[in-house]
Amino acid sequence: MTLKDFFIGLSQNQLLNGMAKKYGLKLGAQSVVAGTNIKEMIESVKELNNHGISATIDNLGEFVTDKQDAIDAKNQILDVIEAIHDNNVNAHISLKATQLGLDIDYDFCFNNIKEIVSKANAYNIFINFDQEDYSHLAPTFQLLDELHKDYDNIGTVIQSYFYESRNNIERYKDYRLRIVKGAYKEPEELAFQGKQDIDENFINLIEYHLLHGKFTSIATHDHRIIDHVKQFVKENDIPADKFEFQMLYGFRRDLQLQLAKEGYHFCTYVPFGNDWFGYFMRRLAERPQNLNLMVKQVFNK
Ligand code: FAD
Repeated sequence: MTLKDFFIGLSQNQLLNGMAKKYGLKLGAQSVVAGTNIKEMIESVKELNNHGISATIDNLGEFVTDKQDAIDAKNQILDVIEAIHDNNVNAHISLKATQLGLDIDYDFCFNNIKEIVSKANAYNIFINFDQEDYSHLAPTFQLLDELHKDYDNIGTVIQSYFYESRNNIERYKDYRLRIVKGAYKEPEELAFQGKQDIDENFINLIEYHLLHGKFTSIATHDHRIIDHVKQFVKENDIPADKFEFQMLYGFRRDLQLQLAKEGYHFCTYVPFGNDWFGYFMRRLAERPQNLNLMVKQVFNK
């Protein structure tokens, strides 16, 4: 078992996720999670906005199996939408369908998400449907397809490690899309395993959507990919308002500020809330150097 598999395993451990909720942000998670409540999160968003950076806000939580938990999550996201509007901050929402009941019942989840999308639409706020593991990919696209009949303030994520992402990027070219490498452990039958193959597909998908798509969010901390995109948009005269770079809150802050300063649209993914454990473990899986965050925190006590 690799270190990556180990942390992905921890991220899905129900017991640890449940325990972590009770104890507040620990183990260094506070440097990559923007607080446990809306007030703290809005302060972080205001600070980003002051640097010319917009935010996509994630009310942390996923793989919910209890109806009441899904309803609570929906209500919290509705409160976040209200807070974005009241504080007039430059921000939108990222949500996960499993937090809103996808594993409980499709129609229940659909209605929860519809309520969120409808309220956001009234305030002209965009909602991104984050993509999770493969078992939730098709139903998440289905939610998007069905809601897109009535709303256009929605979009989703394309994960470059999946072989089928090439088809999906063509199929969803009229949507605002975030393109990422992919954060979950997926089998060889479904997904590229090697870094070089994933990076190559990532670049192909980004280029396709920049040329043919509605709006592209390039979500990566990889400076090599970012440099490639900078060159590509220059050579192909892609207007600045057709794309943005995205990174996660607390990662490569200097590079985030620099890209914004260079005049690129930049959006930071801002997670907040007490359901932080799974998110934090996936960040450790991606980059074991992030363990530094944890070690420093444990020894600074
Ligand atoms: P990596 O492959 O992790 O890193 C490539 C190289 O970049 C490294 O070798 C290093 O040289 C450099 N680098 C990376 N991080 C750092 C750092 N902190 N400091 C210095 N150098 C660094 N995944 C999903 O499956 N679904 C989603 O909905 C989703 N949404 C996302 C939203 C955002 C805004 C972001 C940024 C990521 C999202 N992801 C999502 C996660 C994504 O799929 C990747 O797992 C994650 O971004 C790690 O890949 P990377 O492209 O950042 O580069």
